[in-house]
Amino acid sequence: MAINVVVCVKQIPDPSAPARLDPASKRLVREGVDLVLDPGDEHAVEAALQVAEGAGGEVTVVSMGPARAVDAIRRALSMGGARGIHVQDPALQNSDALSTARVLAAAVKGQPFDLIVCGQESTDGSTGAVPGQLAELLGLPLLSFARKLSVEEGKASIHRQTDEGYDVVEAPLPAVVTVTGGINDPRYPSLRGIMQSKNKEVRQLTLEAIGLSGKAGEKALTQEVVDLQPAQARKAGRVIEDKGEGAREIVDFLAELKVI
Ligand SMILES: Cc1cc2nc3c(=O)[nH]c(=O)nc-3n(C[C@H](O)[C@H](O)[C@H](O)COP(=O)(O)OP(=O)(O)OC[C@H]3O[C@@H](n4cnc5c(N)ncnc54)[C@H](O)[C@@H]3O)c2cc1C
Repeated sequence: MAINVVVCVKQIPDPSAPARLDPASKRLVREGVDLVLDPGDEHAVEAALQVAEGAGGEVTVVSMGPARAVDAIRRALSMGGARGIHVQDPALQNSDALSTARVLAAAVKGQPFDLIVCGQESTDGSTGAVPGQLAELLGLPLLSFARKLSVEEGKASIHRQTDEGYDVVEAPLPAVVTVTGGINDPRYPSLRGIMQSKNKEVRQLTLEAIGLSGKAGEKALTQEVVDLQPAQARKAGRVIEDKGEGAREIVDFLAELKVI
């Protein structure tokens, strides 16, 4: 039986460049910076493609974001996604995580799917809240922290990453799965894939089209950024020169830190 997969992807400021926060709005500066498909979501796209390819299904790529977010969708389509859904609306500026989940849930409703794959957490916002909220809104089970995913006989099965190893967790389809960076090596888009992606359908949806006017975005905030503090600069390390007692000094230092 074919398995159709939805993958949720976010476009973020290039994480290899230093991030800037706007002290006035207390938000990440997203203008005038390079934007990329979140590298964590590339793992989600790869996982979705592997499931769909193994079962003769298709992958639909969904993103909420400003006009430029279509580039992140095209990147996922060039990896092998069949089509895209892009929700953009001026009212969605300053959305919080719950608004994002509401929008994604409304966008995929009516879409035939057996599985939704998300990254574990975005590289910029990093709340890790969207997939759980999405599952709750759609009334679906959530399988999180997957470092391995298999889908067969109407159920999804994952190896859920733990500190000690992994748990095996299963849920009936349809389900939402979040994947860790260790799950796979995302493929590079081929030249053919890049050319084909230009002609693939990307549906543009507004808040009104998904029935959420006034129910998502700035008008429906449930979270507020109340303060910002720069992270403490890392203290300089201690250099121990070995003049015969180096090993002892390191052991004493580690004992002082209660590491040993
Ligand atoms: C008060 C407030 C205002 C904010 N204003 C803005 C703003 O103006 N612009 C802005 O970009 N962010 C804004 N944010 C951040 C925004 O809430 C989150 O970045 C976003 O809603 C998702 O949360 P996250 O990045 O922590 O996702 P996580 O929950 O960490 O993401 C996990 C996974 O969910 C999926 N996912 C997350 N976001 C999307 C998306 N947009 N489309 C598709 N899939 C997604 C991806 O698969 C991702 O890997 C604001 C946050 C707050 C609290």
